[in-house]
Amino acid sequence: MHRSARKRRCALHRTRDTRLHRIRDTKPVGIVHGANAVRLAVLVVCWLALAAPSLAQDRLRIVATTTDMKSLTEAVGGEGVDVVSLVPPTIDAEEYQAKPQDVVRLKDARMVVRVGLDFDLWLDRLLAQASLAHEGVEGLRRGEPGHVDASRAIAVLDQRGSAVGPSDGHAHASGNPHYWLDPKNAEIITGNILEALARLDPANAPHYEANRLAFLARLEARLADWEAKAVALKGKPMVAYHNSWAYLARRFRLDFVATIEPKPGVPPSPAELARLIRTMRERDVRIVVRAPYEPERSAAFLAEKTGAAVVLLAGSVGALASAPDYLSLFDADMAALVAAQSR
Ligand SMILES: [Zn+2]
Repeated sequence: MHRSARKRRCALHRTRDTRLHRIRDTKPVGIVHGANAVRLAVLVVCWLALAAPSLAQDRLRIVATTTDMKSLTEAVGGEGVDVVSLVPPTIDAEEYQAKPQDVVRLKDARMVVRVGLDFDLWLDRLLAQASLAHEGVEGLRRGEPGHVDASRAIAVLDQRGSAVGPSDGHAHASGNPHYWLDPKNAEIITGNILEALARLDPANAPHYEANRLAFLARLEARLADWEAKAVALKGKPMVAYHNSWAYLARRFRLDFVATIEPKPGVPPSPAELARLIRTMRERDVRIVVRAPYEPERSAAFLAEKTGAAVVLLAGSVGALASAPDYLSLFDADMAALVAAQSR
C-alpha cells in the first residue's frame, strides 16, 4: 500500500547541491567531516519528509471514541492506520459531551470504533452531524461497513433487564460497559476491529491478522504475570468509587465489596458514606480504588476514617502516565494494587 510513497522523490534531493553550497559557505560543522555531516543530515531530513506525510496520507484514518479503543485498533492496524480518539482519558467518559472539533475529526475517517452499550451513545448524533457538515463522511453509521461496535459478542456483566428506573443512575443501563478491563476480552475486541479492517482494506488483511495474533501473544505472555500478582490480592476486600472494575475483578478474582457511588453515576449521601464506613470496618477493607478523574473527597474521607489506602488506578489507557497503552494499563493497575496491599 505504500508503494506510491517509495516512488515519490524528496524535494530536498533535487535542491541538494545548492543547499550544500550555502551551508558549507557559511558554517563548518564541528569535528565531523563537514560535507559528510551535511549529506547525512540531508538524507535524514529527506527520509523524515518522505516517511511522515506519505504514511499519514496512505494510512486508513480511524476515529475511536476512547483511548482504549484507539490502543487496541493500533495494535491490529499497525502502520496501516492513523487513529485518533475523542474522549480524553483524564475525564469521565460516561459524562462526555461531544465537541464541535469532534465533528472535524471525523472528516476523512474511514472507520469508527466505539465501546458500545451505553458508554458512548453520543457518537450516533455526532456521526449524523459530521455527515451533514462534511461531504464524504459516509459508511460510518451503525450497521454500515466502517462502524465497529467493539462490544459485539462480549458477555456483558451487571445486566439489569427491563427494571431500570429513574433512580437507578444514568450509567450502565445496558449492563456494565467497562469490559475492556478484562484483558481476555481484547481477543473479542480486536476480532471485531480486524473484521472491519479486512472489509475496508482487504489487500492488507493478512497483515492486520498477523498484527492481531502477535499482539494477543504478547498479551497472553503478560497475563501470567498479572495473574501471579493477583495471588497477593486474593481474599483482600476493596471498595471502589465507581463500578468500573467488574471485569478486572472477575478475571483476577479481586474482591470489591462495595462502591462509593450507591448507583453508577450517583454520588453518595452522608448516610451512605456512614454505611460504607461500617462496611469497611466490618470487612477490614484496606484499599479504596479511585480513577484520577473521580471525586477525591469521598474516597479520602473513607480512607481517613478507616485507615485504608486510596489507590489510583487507570480505568483507561492514558489515565495515568504509567499506562500509556493497553498492556501497560494492566501492568500499572496490578502493580499499584499489590503495592497498596503490602503497605
Ligand atoms: Zn461506568
